[in-house]
Amino acid sequence: MNNETTQVVKKLLASPQKVAIVGHKNPDGDAIGSCLGLSFFLKSQGHSATVIMPNDFPDFLKWLPGCDEIVIYEKEVENSKKIFEKADIIFTLDFNSLDRVGGELQSVLENAAAKFVMIDHHQQPADYAVATYSDVKMSSTSEMVYHFMDAMDQAEKLSKEIAVNLYTGIMTDTGSFRFSSTTPTTHRVAAKLIEAGAQSAIINQNVYDTNSSERMKLLGVALNNLVILPELHTAYITLTQKELDDHNFKKGDTEGFVNYALSVKGIVFAAIFIENKQESIVKISFRSKGNFSVNDFARNHYSGGGHINAAGGKSSQDLNNTINEFISILPRYKNALTNAL
Ligand code: 5GP
Ligand code: MN
Repeated sequence: MNNETTQVVKKLLASPQKVAIVGHKNPDGDAIGSCLGLSFFLKSQGHSATVIMPNDFPDFLKWLPGCDEIVIYEKEVENSKKIFEKADIIFTLDFNSLDRVGGELQSVLENAAAKFVMIDHHQQPADYAVATYSDVKMSSTSEMVYHFMDAMDQAEKLSKEIAVNLYTGIMTDTGSFRFSSTTPTTHRVAAKLIEAGAQSAIINQNVYDTNSSERMKLLGVALNNLVILPELHTAYITLTQKELDDHNFKKGDTEGFVNYALSVKGIVFAAIFIENKQESIVKISFRSKGNFSVNDFARNHYSGGGHINAAGGKSSQDLNNTINEFISILPRYKNALTNAL
């Protein structure tokens, strides 16, 4: 975090503040971990802090310290509005523009009187905060919360609660320290978190070894639906609403499925298309290897965005038309896909 941003934040937090912390819609491990980690830190500094998420989060995160106190906007609209109204400061974590919270929460935030602080690692940060700590090279927002504490000269205040939350966020956003965003500094921060009480083996078990049998069967369906386009170095998976319903789909069940498509030899670009009848959309996750930017691809064609190697978007066409369109777009990228590595 640069000096100017640090000074602005230090001034903002010089006396006890009412803080609301918000993550993006469909929060993942990094959104939840970074927000909870920051809330424990701010509380330890004498502030009040409430974490508010736009909608519910996956069960595999429902053991994290402090997760029971998260307010879900969708379930507690009036209460959430009051918290935002009363807040002196709103921290927005793990997203780059206010439309990422989805629905009417966006206008609630746009009309809030509080000062905003952004901590985020996505591309193209919007300009709404009095302090913007944005760094697209960072592995995760959770790693950034550690650097934020360090910039506040408080890194030695790491508690076990903070450490477990931040470790979980870093671990999930780096694919267990596999993605190219994982730097020597990421590992140094992870080491500090382990020293402060984050038990890597237990966190891994809680996140990755708590699958339901239905989720495993749904994975089988997804793998069966895998389509490989070798000429275009692309692989994609589809899941229909019926396939989800047949396996008692719960939020988070499809997390990581797209990585199986990317793991096929010779594939540099992977996508999963998931039908969502309730929202009348197809939700899409993109992953890539090397310099093929799925952030650009998602922005250009699917009103989405994210990072170079991990992004998301959506289509308002039905699943079949979405796939047909995807296949028709791909040849334009043949050179980029061939030369990605
Ligand atoms: P996932 O595919 O795991 O949902 O998301 C991958 C990355 O892309 C995450 O960093 C996520 O925040 C971002 N992302 C996912 N969906 C969208 C979207 O619809 N719009 C934007 N701007 N980013 C997205
Ligand atoms: Mn993240």
